[in-house]
Amino acid sequence: MIVNLEIGTDPSRVQRALVAHGLWVRKLEGANQVCFLIEPSSRQVSRDELLAIPGVSDVAVAKSPHPLLDAQPKYPSLCGVALGRDPLLIAGPCAVESPEQIDAIAARISRAGARLIRGGAFKPRTSPYSFQGQGEQALGWLSAAARKHGLGVVTEVMAAEQAPAVAEHADLLQIGCRNMQNYSLLASAAEHERPMLLKRGMSATVEEWLLAAEYCLLHGAPFVVFCERGIRGFDTSTRNLLDLGAVALLSQVHGLPVLVDPSHACGRRDLIPALSKAALAVGAAGLLLETHDSPGEALSDGPQALSPQELEALASELGFRTKPSSGERVSPTAPAELPRLEART
Ligand code: PEP
Ligand code: MN
Repeated sequence: MIVNLEIGTDPSRVQRALVAHGLWVRKLEGANQVCFLIEPSSRQVSRDELLAIPGVSDVAVAKSPHPLLDAQPKYPSLCGVALGRDPLLIAGPCAVESPEQIDAIAARISRAGARLIRGGAFKPRTSPYSFQGQGEQALGWLSAAARKHGLGVVTEVMAAEQAPAVAEHADLLQIGCRNMQNYSLLASAAEHERPMLLKRGMSATVEEWLLAAEYCLLHGAPFVVFCERGIRGFDTSTRNLLDLGAVALLSQVHGLPVLVDPSHACGRRDLIPALSKAALAVGAAGLLLETHDSPGEALSDGPQALSPQELEALASELGFRTKPSSGERVSPTAPAELPRLEART
């Protein structure tokens, strides 16, 4: 935004008013004119708010670079949950390892109040020698377990040729952090017209993240759910650096659904309860929690996986609805009785 001043106005008076509105400004001086450039990191203000400042003659506003995202429904519905209204719990292992493993985990996370199960069939591993996932067969194991226990499915698509199979089994197509800016993959995945879970790239700015979502919407995704999973920091005490400021910004300012994945963010099980609470407190629409029935034996990411008991304890502390251990199944499309999030303005 550029704020122009009326001739004869004292620029320092307007500058003080702009700062009082929470804006970072840079003064631009022409031959006989002064104006102010509103810099990034400023609070979001409307043009009308600025025009009301005495001495301001005009405000020039840049067009939004992500019009489709701006028009995305405010509370999109996913597996019966109004995202941004009712907190969403997604849980499951890092990788789908076997039909028995995923069935056992699905039973436990469904009881804990999860609405969707996560688990990778195709795993993006830093080392080519690490377990790479069980591949396409795991998609069938995952969706069968999900159906049996009344859960939706989210799983990662790593390559365009995997997109049709993943779309056939998943309610939500996950794009991993390493692929956030793989624009041809975003387009191929989006063509299946499923909602997409867009993990933030490990060094992506918020604007790059929003623009990646715009690609998904442009190519057919009905809506995009964001997921903050930690960005690259300098400190190895935690695996990554959980950027809760970005979560608050997306949720409170942009009114977008953003989940937090504290598992990949901190990489250590002991901090997950604290970070989960913090995430919901700043406005996250829900949580993605890695959970394994036997974390010590997990083929990937065991140290950050919660046990089913730990998930149940945390979910219950956070107010997620738990399902009785036997008897009636709770469908993910059943009306939610979860605590409501504060309405976003
Ligand atoms: C995952 O969720 O399984 C995963 C690999 O996450 P990320 O892309 O955030 O590393
Ligand atoms: Mn993982």
